[in-house]
Amino acid sequence: MVAQHLFILTGASRGMGRAMAGQLLQAGHTLITLARSPLPLPPQPLATHLHWPHDLTAPEAAAGQLLAWLQACRASDYASATLINNAAMIPPIAPLCATAWPDIAATLRLGLEAPMVLTSAFLQGTAHWTQPKKVLNISSGLGRRGMASQAPYCAAKAGLDNFSQALALEEALKPHGARVCSLAPGVIDTAMQAQLRSADADNFPDAHRFGHLHSNGLLTSAEDAATQVLAWLARPDFGTPVLADVRQP
Ligand code: NAP
Repeated sequence: MVAQHLFILTGASRGMGRAMAGQLLQAGHTLITLARSPLPLPPQPLATHLHWPHDLTAPEAAAGQLLAWLQACRASDYASATLINNAAMIPPIAPLCATAWPDIAATLRLGLEAPMVLTSAFLQGTAHWTQPKKVLNISSGLGRRGMASQAPYCAAKAGLDNFSQALALEEALKPHGARVCSLAPGVIDTAMQAQLRSADADNFPDAHRFGHLHSNGLLTSAEDAATQVLAWLARPDFGTPVLADVRQP
């Protein structure tokens, strides 16, 4: 049997994640996708797709399933292993003082805790693997600058960036450590953008900026964004630097 390239992808049911899943399911690949919704993908020859439905605001169950799956599989069946932490959410858009506390928690748990817990499971489960390993965290420009009424999302993405930098230092100490990148994917025509541009301007001073991006055709399609992100993943210098942006190649 020819060794397969293993990809684990969160937030695969919609938006850019859905587009990445479609592009990753190709001959020679094993793809594990996670989201709350189902993800029926047309079967592809010589490719394997497993979908695990999980609510990643409580990531322990998904991480446990991932660790058990990795421990049960034969490392020599895989030529490489890649985890893509893509799932994220923006809570109802409002200043922090008007944001429900459970929404703050869910945004941080999905956007930061789940990537950390899943990455821990991924690294534990592949600890003895000598083949190339990568962790790609999908960040945002809002992890690198603040925006009013976006405090939980900005905090989750800033945390994801610095988590990635710390993790890269740890993995660099290992003989077969993972390469790590936190990548801002640009502005993409998905439900997340629709949420931003339809927000109440009284609660969101930057609402007009998102309307402008849409009405001037400045959003990247989910398919094109997925292609750009997967091209970044394939770069020989992936992980150098750890913090990257598809708009600054
Ligand atoms: P999206 O269209 O809103 O899709 C979000 C994905 O996350 C869906 O597959 C959703 O699946 C999953 N998800 C949401 N809540 C979840 C939960 N509780 N448990 C498990 N999965 C959950 O997002 P997108 O615009 O494609 O964004 C993809 C990534 O790019 C995100 O990390 C986002 O922050 C980043 N990004 C996007 C933009 C943009 O302009 N769109 C800009 C910068 C960065 P279910 O609902 O089925 O669970």
